[in-house]
This record gives sequence, C-alpha cells and structure tokens, in this order.
Amino acid sequence: TRQFTRPLNDLANQWNTLLSAVAGAERVFEVLDEETEASDEGAAIALEHVAGAVQFSEVAFSYDGEGDTLQNISFEAKPGEMIALVGPTGAGKTTLIGLLSRFYDPSEGRIMIDGRDITSIKRESLRGHMAFVLQDSFLFKGSIRDNIRYGKLDATDEEVEQAAKLANAHSFIMRMPGGYDRMLSADGSGISQGQKQLLAIARAILADPAMLILDEATSSIDTVTEVKIQEGLQALMKGRTSFVIAHRLNTIRAADRILVLRGGRLIQQGSHEKLLQEEGLYQDLVQGQRKAAVN
Ligand code: ADP
Repeated sequence: TRQFTRPLNDLANQWNTLLSAVAGAERVFEVLDEETEASDEGAAIALEHVAGAVQFSEVAFSYDGEGDTLQNISFEAKPGEMIALVGPTGAGKTTLIGLLSRFYDPSEGRIMIDGRDITSIKRESLRGHMAFVLQDSFLFKGSIRDNIRYGKLDATDEEVEQAAKLANAHSFIMRMPGGYDRMLSADGSGISQGQKQLLAIARAILADPAMLILDEATSSIDTVTEVKIQEGLQALMKGRTSFVIAHRLNTIRAADRILVLRGGRLIQQGSHEKLLQEEGLYQDLVQGQRKAAVN
C-alpha cells in the first residue's frame, strides 16, 4: 500500500484555500509542496461549466524525464460514461489519473476536456469539477456534518442530509450517538472503513461535480456495508464521467469502457463483452479473479 506522507494537520490548516476534492488526492500523489505540481500558464482560464467529455491523444509521461511511465495513451470518454482502469500494480493507473487532474502534465500528447486542452485550464478550476472518492478518504477533526459539508462549504444542513441519504450514509449516521453532530477525529477512529467511504460518497454528491475519480476499496468491508457503498456509488456516478481504478469484477463489468494497462501502455480497451472475446491480459485477469483480486 501507498505511504501517505503529507501530514493531515497541514491539510486542515489550509482549510480555506483547499478545494474539497483535492485533499485526499494530494496525499495519493504525494504532493508535498506546490512546486512539484504542474503549474498554470499565465493564460490558463477557469471553466464555468463542464459536460465531462474526456479525450487522451497519444499521451506520454515520465516521472524522471528518462523512461516512459505512460506511453501512447489514447482513448475517449463521453459525458456521463464510466471508465474502468484495470491492470497490475505499477501499470500506470494512478499516474493516468494524476495527469487527468493535472498533478502532472504530459510530456507528449494532449488531454482534452470538452475539447479544450487541460493545460489551458487552471488546476483549481479543473479539480473543482472533479470529486475524489479514494480508499483512504480525507477526514478532519470535526462533526460528521462538517465533514460532509466539506464538499460544498455553503451547503445547508438540509442539503448535507439529503446528500447523506442519497449516499446511503444517513442510516448509519442516525444510529451513532450524536448523529450528524458526532465528532470525528482526523484518523477516523470510531467509524469503520466502509462508513468512511459512505461519508466520502455523501461529500462528493454534495459537491456535484461533472467528473469523478474513484479508487475502489481493496480492503475487506462487511457485506451489508459493501452493498450500501455500491448503491451509493451508483447514485453518485449517475450522469457524471467516472474514472474508477477498479478491483472488483462486478464494477468492471458495469463500465462503459474498460482500459487495460500494463507497463505504462494501454494494451486493450472496450466493453467487458468485447474484451472477453480477445485473447490477452483481460481474459487472464477475469479468469484469475475467480481465485484472487484483479490486483
Ligand atoms: P498503478 O496505479 O497502476 O499501480 P502507478 O501509476 O502508481 O501504477 O505507477 C506506475 C509506475 O510509475 C510504477 O513503476 C511506479 O513505481 C512509478 N511511480 C509512481 N509514482 C511515482 C512517483 N511519484 N515518482 C516516480 N515514479 C513513480
């Protein structure tokens, strides 16, 4: 598993300047300071409205300027589609997401959103149209209500509860002493991994972005909570362009398009039905899934 090096306190201190979506992602990409991030060009603009069409054209990227971590990546996602990223550890799935959210910029090729090269969009604006639901979602010391409200800082209590209901989080919150006023610690002790995910889903629903980045949990979550999470995710993904780093066959099967990565290359893409007909890594992964997780 990844090491999250950025201290949570740092993030909490930056409360006013952080976009809700970004806190968890910054830890995933181990962004330690602004200097390491892709920078905005002077002419970069803010985007008002995003439909969520995504296009990668012959994208390459290297962390060290030498070997290619990603090579020749081309695909399209239509607004509202669900894209599953699969492939072994180290294949480049997280890096692809890092490029889409401009933690890094490609060394070759272009990434377009709604036909616009994303290097011409301000990073903050771009990420303001995305929500991240990660395995280890960001919580801070504060009430459950405020932790959800982090998705939209001016949301009313009613909006917070409405989002929690859609996310399937309302019932577990109401069962807790204090309900929405229950205080959480930054490490989320006192609530389960699955409950944390439900809070992250509620937060993302409240944020209401055009695009979603999901990192499906690999840790074991009890069956009842797992069903709630799946339903909550379906409510969340509806009408949004979603990129899911997927580990479960059921999730992958539901995708409009599956991108199969290996060694930084996009070696197969298409629907589950199409990829099952092809000899290749996808068949192997699906067969292996009966015994073990995809990755
Ligand atoms: P995946 O998400 O499919 O497991 P990653 O995108 O995390 O794959 O990694 C792709 C490759 O890039 C791996 O070889 C990994 O070691 C390398 N890598 C990932 N993050 C960094 C980084 N911050 N600096 C240098 N190399 C990295």
